[in-house]
Amino acid sequence: MYLTDLTKPEVERLLFDLCEPKYRAKQVWDWLNRGARVEEMTNLPATLREKLSAIPYGGVVIERKFLSGKDGTVKYLFRLEDENLVEGVLMRYHYGNTLCLSTQIGCSMGCKFCASTLDGCVRNLRPGEMLGQILAVERDEPPKEAGHRTVTNLVLMGSGEPLDNYDNVVLFLNRVTDQEGLRISPRNISVSTCGIVPKIGLFLQDAPHVTLSISLHAHDDETRSSLMPINKAYPIDSVIAAAKEYADKTGRRVVFEYALISGVNASMADADALAKKLRGILCHVNLIPLNPVPERGLAGVTRAEAEQFSARLAERNISATVRREMGTDIEGACGQLRRRILHEIRSEN
Ligand code: SAH
Repeated sequence: MYLTDLTKPEVERLLFDLCEPKYRAKQVWDWLNRGARVEEMTNLPATLREKLSAIPYGGVVIERKFLSGKDGTVKYLFRLEDENLVEGVLMRYHYGNTLCLSTQIGCSMGCKFCASTLDGCVRNLRPGEMLGQILAVERDEPPKEAGHRTVTNLVLMGSGEPLDNYDNVVLFLNRVTDQEGLRISPRNISVSTCGIVPKIGLFLQDAPHVTLSISLHAHDDETRSSLMPINKAYPIDSVIAAAKEYADKTGRRVVFEYALISGVNASMADADALAKKLRGILCHVNLIPLNPVPERGLAGVTRAEAEQFSARLAERNISATVRREMGTDIEGACGQLRRRILHEIRSEN
């Protein structure tokens, strides 16, 4: 058991078991939702703090922080209690701030363009460790006004495959959207998956108001399987059928992520074939010029080429945008920051 994983009823149960009055549970719950450590819970009696200190906490602290001079984007390297590191990125938009957070340490999906998966999956993050990434950022940059949040939107697009850590991710989503907790609106949350089809169906039931993003990256099985091993288990048509079911049932657009890789999936013929594949689905295509990962030998496209691809999709009535590149002056693609710092730390020791 970790304190930061507990739901409100579980905190109440714990405090009841510790023979404490009910109002103490509310105090502890409020502190936990602010990321306070037990020693900071100053309105609790010392004896209670001592008892709570005996329970593992499961917290997250900021190990390093990199600020982009260009657009205010902040990349965070978070440290967990077992000394593992994960990445997060805070991006500033006119409507609020979006935190991109990690769901696993590493990843076992093996996508060929992704740095997060190079060393496999170390372990799943617990709900409290996903929440802890938000709370660490809010402690670092407190909300400007009382009752507001610094982090208004979430994308589960850091390291890890959220649907490969399904139960913890659903617990986390319940926790952050809890009206008595952080109260982040599910509509402000996006979960991105490489396409674990049976879990997409479940997710539709467990988190119907959260936006679903699917990493497509190709329009045919041959190319997709060469980039994303998961496609061998769940081929592209099954992924698109699951996406269609999601859009039909929720009435909301499904977002397809498509990283443009030079010479692989980025020609005008590819745009035409993609448009054909997505015809009739309520969707939006998010185009990302591939962030080159030197370990992988794959190259991205220019912004102009990405815009051309986007225009071609639009001509074929598929809504598409080229993702705004943020914080490019501070680090490259997903998972690269963690790898670089891990190498630095290892060579320092
Ligand atoms: N596992 C989940 C979420 C994490 S990755 C998923 O696959 O969707 C978040 C997004 O970044 C995914 O669309 C992923 O395919 C993409 N991505 C990973 N490496 C990238 C790179 N080098 N350049 C551009 N996008 C990348």
